[in-house]
Amino acid sequence: MDLGIAGKWALVCGASKGLGYGCALALAREGVNLVINARTAQALSAAGAAIAAETGVEVRTVACDITTEAGRLAALAACPQVDILVNNAGGPPPGDFRNWTREHWIAALDANMLTPIELIKATVDPMIARGFGRIVNITSSSVKAPIEILGLSNGARSGLTGFVAGLARKTVEHNVTINNLLPGQFDTDRLRNTTAAAAKNLGKPAEEIAAQRRQLIPAKRFGNALEFGQMCAYLCSEQASYFTGQNVLLDGGAYPGTY
Ligand code: NAD
Repeated sequence: MDLGIAGKWALVCGASKGLGYGCALALAREGVNLVINARTAQALSAAGAAIAAETGVEVRTVACDITTEAGRLAALAACPQVDILVNNAGGPPPGDFRNWTREHWIAALDANMLTPIELIKATVDPMIARGFGRIVNITSSSVKAPIEILGLSNGARSGLTGFVAGLARKTVEHNVTINNLLPGQFDTDRLRNTTAAAAKNLGKPAEEIAAQRRQLIPAKRFGNALEFGQMCAYLCSEQASYFTGQNVLLDGGAYPGTY
């Protein structure tokens, strides 16, 4: 299926690796030009060069922390126009809420709620004026089924989800949609790091813990970043104009509910 978005410009945040990279690559394969962002310049340049070499689209890289105002301004300035916005940044650390201070909460809110809202604020009105816009927020399955030790993530991402639910109904008549994409367990550095930490705590090999986790997923495997990106690309397609304000859970069947 031709997704009808070739030649458009996307700003994809947190895209040097992992789920953001998967989204950037899938959009580039549809002919979308990219501004990609991450904090580490070298990894980001390598990611951009690989995507450009494979797909032939224009890829601009902006190495910055997207949770800062300066970072957001630099990323936005590099993009001729933002037709597609993929919001993403690192997730908050796990822990016990008794140990979290106001600073921990503000950092989580900044990264996983207020930064996406600021980027939406900067891009949504021009999208409305042009009559096309697609915004996808990478959140987490923890919005749907909370993960106890990820309270910072559960809370901050739920705040974003609530905000988006309201705004998405105001923009769709202008062909501007806003949706959230909720990853279950995807085989990225983040998952590998959290698995290694859990294994260390339990005194077991990381591969044993990973195998146990895969067994609990009905698909019997972790997801891969490209299949996540392909779902993102569909949400950004011309065809998906009637789809807004939704929380799309991509988890290999792990969520056990009927609805
Ligand atoms: P990852 O560590 O593999 O990649 C994260 C990317 O974001 C990297 O490119 C990194 O440089 C960039 N990044 C991080 N913080 C940034 C910042 N402040 N500014 C700019 N770039 C930044 O992680 P991932 O697995 O791709 O996860 C992406 C998001 O999805 C995270 O918020 C994570 O919590 C969430 N998530 C992931 C999973 C999973 O299984 N992988 C599950 C649920 C939620």
